[in-house]
Amino acid sequence: MTIISIVVPCYNEEEVIIETNKRLTSELNKLADKRNLKYEIIYVNDGSKDNTLKILHQLEKENLEKNSINGKLIILSLAKNFGHQIALSAGLHHAKGNAIISIDADLQDPPEVIEGMLEMWKEGSDIVYGVRTVREGETWFKLITAKLFYIIVRKLTNCDIPLNSGDFRLMSRRALDIFNSLPEKNRFIRGMIPWIGLKQTPIYYERSASFAGTTKYPLTKMIKLALDGIIGFSNTPLKSAYYLGFTVAFLSFIYGFFILVYSQIKGFPVQGWSSIMVTILFIGGIQLITIGILGEYIGRIYDEVKKRPLFIINDKESRFGN
Ligand code: UDP
Ligand code: MG
Repeated sequence: MTIISIVVPCYNEEEVIIETNKRLTSELNKLADKRNLKYEIIYVNDGSKDNTLKILHQLEKENLEKNSINGKLIILSLAKNFGHQIALSAGLHHAKGNAIISIDADLQDPPEVIEGMLEMWKEGSDIVYGVRTVREGETWFKLITAKLFYIIVRKLTNCDIPLNSGDFRLMSRRALDIFNSLPEKNRFIRGMIPWIGLKQTPIYYERSASFAGTTKYPLTKMIKLALDGIIGFSNTPLKSAYYLGFTVAFLSFIYGFFILVYSQIKGFPVQGWSSIMVTILFIGGIQLITIGILGEYIGRIYDEVKKRPLFIINDKESRFGN
């Protein structure tokens, strides 16, 4: 029997959660009958300050009363607001299914796309990620910052993060087990998934406006997410100190040399100025380079402590058994 897990992080979603649950369960019940599968929906309450948790408990009670044989509701309630990426990770850790789908609670990702995702999973994809074609009902500011976010993160990291993809995706059991084994604390899931590799396929859909409520990703959280992406996936900022150090040091050496020669030929009106300048520039340059070298070591320590597996095997074949 195939089991599908749906993970829904929820933060202050009281206005929409009932509707979300209705659409999700009706779609999943349809699929359950059609494809002979069972499902579990894991709602992760990320320390909501409104009635989200109360409504979730009510939904669970109703579901029990209905005695649904197709699926069950699971509620995970975090002790405080840990943020979207952590809430999602918590839900993913508890998912038991053969295929696991993560979806936003605000109905911006239509549950109707799930069927297509399952289709691609059956055809052998380990990860099927949603790519939105239009983003209705979002301000131009959100659109531009989102676009900038992708451009910068893709440029600075060596991770091939697909453009316009969010956290609406399906993962096979195998992909999720690998994902769960990545122990890093600053989790930038959109980068970690492409990092895993395996067979990844996009599925295109139209992103609708939030059913209710506003984005819980204000600019500050977007910047935090971008920083997690950049710093978690590249040592470029650390290395930039190194390059900057070398450039500045190089330029100051030239300048120092120039001052030295100039003062010998023309002479400076202030006695001792050139020797002080040369000393300052020289020491400044040495300091920057040393900071760069420290950065280089810290970068390596950082790579080590992330404790990511060295490689991930997709297939292993052997002709002689074993
Ligand atoms: N979310 C969460 N914790 C937070 C912020 C958001 O669990 O601290 C959830 C939220 O309930 C939603 C999903 O993460 O299900 C995406 O949030 P939102 O819709 O605000 O993001 P956007 O659509 O603007 O990318
Ligand atoms: Mg949203």
